[in-house]
Amino acid sequence: MIAIYPGSFDPITLGHLDIIERGVLLFEKVIVTVMYNPSKKPLFPVEKRVEQIKECTQHLSKVEVDSYTGLTVDYAKLHNAQVLLRGLRVLSDFEKELQMAHTNKTLAKEVQTVFLATSKEYSFLSSSTVKEIARFGGSISHLVPENVAQDLRDHHSRNMTKVIHSS
Ligand code: ADP
Repeated sequence: MIAIYPGSFDPITLGHLDIIERGVLLFEKVIVTVMYNPSKKPLFPVEKRVEQIKECTQHLSKVEVDSYTGLTVDYAKLHNAQVLLRGLRVLSDFEKELQMAHTNKTLAKEVQTVFLATSKEYSFLSSSTVKEIARFGGSISHLVPENVAQDLRDHHSRNMTKVIHSS
């Protein structure tokens, strides 16, 4: 079975990576798909997020990385994927994820949503938390893959330089 792991991944964290690493144990192939979400203002452009994910999943031969604008179920059908893989951290994720799974089921009966519970060390971790910590110069190397930590540092040092030059 082929699984799609859709998300914003802005940026990918060790929590996402943990779900991907466990997903490849269960499925023939996992396609990590960066979905364009018009209601979110991302820090990194889609192409950069795809590049970040490709780099940190290099060691996983069963992983492909892609991006898509549109409905996740349409993407799944296009790629003959039977499963949408999602991660669950805390109870508040559950409500939103269940609603999404039911909605997707009404759109495509043949596509199943499979939830993997996060490893407990990542249950507090989100892309937003990482961005918040990075913005104020805190340590993020235990939260994201090294290439992403470097991109966040570069992003914030560029912004700092801009602030210094404009003041
Ligand atoms: P979305 O905007 O679709 O929620 P995210 O990039 O925030 O995209 O998350 C993609 C998927 O990964 C979601 O199913 C989310 O619950 C899951 N996820 C996010 N952070 C973690 C984590 N720390 N551990 C496990 N799963 C996670």
